Amino acid sequence: MEYQGVLKKMTTENGDVIQYYLDMNSDFLNMNQLLNKELEISFVTYECLSCGKEKQIYRQGFCKSCFFENPNAGDWIMRPELSKAHLGIEDRDLEYEKKAQLQPHIVYLANSSNVKVGVTRKSQVPTRWIDQGAHEAIEIVEVPNRYLAGITEVALKEHVADKTNWRKMLKNDIEEEDLSKWQERLRAFIPEEVQEYFIENNKETELNFPVEKYPEKPKSLNLSKTPTYQGKLVGIKGQYFIFEDQTVFNVRANEGLVVKIGVV
Ligand SMILES: [Zn+2]
Repeated sequence: MEYQGVLKKMTTENGDVIQYYLDMNSDFLNMNQLLNKELEISFVTYECLSCGKEKQIYRQGFCKSCFFENPNAGDWIMRPELSKAHLGIEDRDLEYEKKAQLQPHIVYLANSSNVKVGVTRKSQVPTRWIDQGAHEAIEIVEVPNRYLAGITEVALKEHVADKTNWRKMLKNDIEEEDLSKWQERLRAFIPEEVQEYFIENNKETELNFPVEKYPEKPKSLNLSKTPTYQGKLVGIKGQYFIFEDQTVFNVRANEGLVVKIGVV
């Protein structure tokens, strides 16, 4: 069996074990069913996720010109505190930004390699946590727009990490934390205008990834240096494929690459 398509981050479905799906043009692969199988991944070409042209990918699946023009790649995506749609101020496309920013957002704590704070649209819970490879997470506040979530994150970053260590996450070098205690501890540092949105008596969500064997020394597959790779898939965590020889492949970081995936 061989499939070809442009890589986009896997979609997921939470359950006893998280289910992962990879959209390969005409085929929709349930990656869980490919566990313990030999896969061959090869690079074919590039296809920008915005303009569809065969241009080298710059960031987030976009070619360079789309990255600097597409409303979905504005600075407020990575830095929510820069959101301005609530003031009626345009960055690249005000209608788009209103839709994206003026909707319920969650500030959360997720534990993937350490406890970190993050922001997501409410509709992306628990997808966002799964994408980060968090084994537990909790919502701290639910606010009506992205800006309020952004300023909360900025304030909390002074007291808790905002980055994941992907190697520790993949090695499963993790500790259980009581996230509702963390939520209470951080409460005093939430900006005043956000205090009313604090979520009381919240419980953490546990997430179970389909991994049979964690790598001790994960090494990242780079398809521009190794255009063809073959290995046995032994797990999926975050947006990573984990192979038996400790190679890991970050699907999300390779968005916009057209690949062939063969089941050997
Ligand atoms: Zn493009």
